Amino acid sequence: MKRFLIPVLMVFILQPSNAQTKKITGFFEKNIGKELSLESAFDKNLNKDNIGETIKKLSAKPHHISSPGDKENAEYILSLFKQWGWDAKIETFYVLFPTPETRVLEMISPTSYKAILKEPALKEDATSGQSGQLPTYNAYSADGDVTSELVFVNYGLPEDYDVLDKMGVDVKGKIVIAKYGHSWRGIKPKVAQEHGAIGCIIYSDPADDGYFEGDVYPKGALRNEFGVQRGSVIDMSAYYPGDPLTPGIGATKDAKRLDRSEAPSLLKIPVLPISYHDAAPLLEALDGHVVPESWHGGLPFAYHIGPGKTKVHLKLAFSWDIVPCYDVIAKIQGSKFPDEWVIRGNHQDAWVNGAGDPISGQAAMLEEAKSIGSMLKTGWRPERTIVYCAWDGEEPGLLGSTEWVEEHEKELRDKAVVYINSDSNSRGFLFAEGSHALEPFLDEIAKQVIDPQTNVTVFDRRKAHRALSTNNDEAKKKIWNEKELKLGAMGSGSDYSSFIQHAGVPALNLGYGGEEPSGDYHSIYDSYDLYKKFQDPGFQYGVTLAETAGHAVLRMANADELPFDFTHLYRTADTYSKELITLMNKSRESTELENAIIRAGGYAVGEDPTKGYIVPPAKPEVPYLDFSPLQNALQQLGISVDSLRIVFQRNINTNRISDKFNQSLYRAEQQLLEEKGLPRRPWYRHTLYAPGYYTGYGVKTMPGIREAIEQRNWDEAQQQIEVDAKALLRLAKYFNALSARGD
Ligand SMILES: [Zn+2]
Repeated sequence: MKRFLIPVLMVFILQPSNAQTKKITGFFEKNIGKELSLESAFDKNLNKDNIGETIKKLSAKPHHISSPGDKENAEYILSLFKQWGWDAKIETFYVLFPTPETRVLEMISPTSYKAILKEPALKEDATSGQSGQLPTYNAYSADGDVTSELVFVNYGLPEDYDVLDKMGVDVKGKIVIAKYGHSWRGIKPKVAQEHGAIGCIIYSDPADDGYFEGDVYPKGALRNEFGVQRGSVIDMSAYYPGDPLTPGIGATKDAKRLDRSEAPSLLKIPVLPISYHDAAPLLEALDGHVVPESWHGGLPFAYHIGPGKTKVHLKLAFSWDIVPCYDVIAKIQGSKFPDEWVIRGNHQDAWVNGAGDPISGQAAMLEEAKSIGSMLKTGWRPERTIVYCAWDGEEPGLLGSTEWVEEHEKELRDKAVVYINSDSNSRGFLFAEGSHALEPFLDEIAKQVIDPQTNVTVFDRRKAHRALSTNNDEAKKKIWNEKELKLGAMGSGSDYSSFIQHAGVPALNLGYGGEEPSGDYHSIYDSYDLYKKFQDPGFQYGVTLAETAGHAVLRMANADELPFDFTHLYRTADTYSKELITLMNKSRESTELENAIIRAGGYAVGEDPTKGYIVPPAKPEVPYLDFSPLQNALQQLGISVDSLRIVFQRNINTNRISDKFNQSLYRAEQQLLEEKGLPRRPWYRHTLYAPGYYTGYGVKTMPGIREAIEQRNWDEAQQQIEVDAKALLRLAKYFNALSARGD
């Protein structure tokens, strides 16, 4: 008997009751225990096998927007919500969605090759041979029939064209071929078009997601010879996401639409994605300069730039139909605050079967909804309204979520407490980005959710992984010593964009992944078979995502005081401001150095004289900007968030808080919107976060100032410093008024 005594005692010592150990901000002391037991009841209803079944069911057929499979899935998801006791409906929008009618790519000189433009079925992959698959194409490419010399432009980014300039290579009137990667795909044809190219081909190089990285499908998860990345090339970072014909308004049946010829987010040149099976003959035939060392890919020959004897013919035509877009919207009305909405979303449309993107995330979200449904049956109700959204049309350009936000913008600005997004999910490490006032909120959750493979918290696992992923000792030490979770800043690429960047709704984007490198993205091989074999074999990470996002939803829905901590927003904005000052100084130093080398004739003797390199012209010197308005505004904001923090704690201590105080907390982020929008892109209004004009998905923080500096537009940079300073001051004043009012 005795030997059992010690373990029993140890268990007792190591596991005191939840309420004593778990920190949970925003709840009165007396309500913490209730919330924690609610969350453990929620967790008990989550089932990994069920998540696997949902993934299988929803990825059983191709289900791109407006396809029969898409409609079937939307209706099935609707029926699930209803069955679980949610008040659910399908909200339909009508959006421009082109599909290909003609696709021809052929090399006509020096030899001929006709691209097959087809991913073959595999016997190891049950859905790979289905009918109804969208062909390989880039949505919103222009129609076109062009023939010209081919030029290899590396990843097709602005800096790649600087290198071409130096080599004396001009793409005007040519067709370019670019590698996938290093930017959002839509940037490649856009930059090509800006440089005068008449067509663009994008291919997946094996060095990026193929055999250079590991075994290819079906042996491994990496992209095989024939795999093609479909995807949208709508210019959403420069203009707006969503339906190209209805910027700023919901694409309802009778909405006023632009003529297609006037839609600014549509490209003017044809663009087509291909596999490396189709790209190799074209690339091998190129002559001209050998590429710089860093431009080489993984194919077994020397890469050349062209142009020259290699000519290609590209012919594309599309349907340009207006199609229905089915958003499934499900609600549970809040018992105390029905007009405060906690919103959770994940898209349901795919390019083909999309078991990983988006069904892995969708299945986790549905498991949350099912669990919440079971809790409803016990008589429980959330205090705030919970809204779950299965978006359609994310793949072509965040269509379903953007149209919904545009249609309901006024109501959302009033009612939306937070938007919590997810998308693809797989085995691995937590990634989290979002509004920085939510950093401590997610930190608490990440320190309570347990990683299924290692049994440590997902916070600890993420930190260890990040530390081990860097070779720089200083960075490693910094990460290893981090005590709190850091949120990444939000760019674009999933359905949170319109919430945060257009309507100022605080947002989070969550998911797991990173353990298994893969190359199935947007191909027919993103299937249940591949997902089950490589991405999350036991579907455990579906449960982990459901716990993480579900706890976030439940805490926001039930919090006595909404857990926004604006000290973190202030600190982050202060870091951004310091980064911009450093960026200016570095830009000044590097311009001075470069100009000195040019003036002293360094380029003429430093490069191979037989190659005919062109000496770049000297650049105008970089002036000094006045950052003081921004620094002063930040100083005010720092003071205001300190006072607000005191009031926040006092409310918790006294168990007293008004509805109005909570409403002011969740609406605060809207103070950071510049209603006129960013320069030349009025749809993007947030002064702290936007996707980069030339990065697409990648975020630019304090985008108005940062992009003006990067584009060397000094007057605009100075003017944007004033704009951002005003926004931060507006927020400081808002907080001062709130603190003065108290609860
Ligand atoms: Zn997705």
